[in-house]
Amino acid sequence: NSFVKFSLSDEIKRALALLKYEEPTEVQREVVPLAMDKHDLVVKSQTGSGKTASFGIPVCEKVEWEENKPQALILEPTRELAVQVREDMTNIGRFKRLKALALYGREPFSKQREELKQKTHIVVGTPGRVMDHIERGTLDLNHIQYLIIDEADEMLNMGFIEEVEAIIQELPKNRATMVFSATLPKDVEALCHRYMKKPVHIEI
Ligand code: AMP
Repeated sequence: NSFVKFSLSDEIKRALALLKYEEPTEVQREVVPLAMDKHDLVVKSQTGSGKTASFGIPVCEKVEWEENKPQALILEPTRELAVQVREDMTNIGRFKRLKALALYGREPFSKQREELKQKTHIVVGTPGRVMDHIERGTLDLNHIQYLIIDEADEMLNMGFIEEVEAIIQELPKNRATMVFSATLPKDVEALCHRYMKKPVHIEI
């Protein structure tokens, strides 16, 4: 299959086979190689395009199981999306035994705090609850290599700009940042301009 040219590990290739992903979608063909090289990316694409796996594949490939710390942070506008994307990451990272955790409101903070004490490689969360964990010192972001801001237009429409910017301030500078959005209104462009290094623009 043509995922072959991405030179993925056997563990990830087996996971894609199990998911019956045989050919990369257009957004995956564009995003996966650039994301593996840790480029900053602004990706304009719709839900249904396969965008989740376009960041999920490189993230799961690059995350190291041995490092007992979150290495990728994925921000989602809603709890439902956070749960769905966590599941997608778990499926793609299955044979590397990667642990992905979802952090969202309306679930006890203490439960999430206990889960964060266990091995966690990938954190998927809504901005408000992620910020809560940062403020209370329960989320270690010192090893984050990838920040993904998914559904950025929705996120800003919902009024999460302050939380998103506050979270970005807490992240290591040498990370890759990827913004995914169905539309690119001015506030999303401004966010990208402020926090990204010469991002590659991809439009599907
Ligand atoms: P998304 O745009 O990320 O919401 O994905 C839309 C749907 O496409 C999801 O159900 C994925 O499981 C599926 N999908 C993603 N990538 C592939 C692929 N390469 N081949 C077949 N299905 C895929």
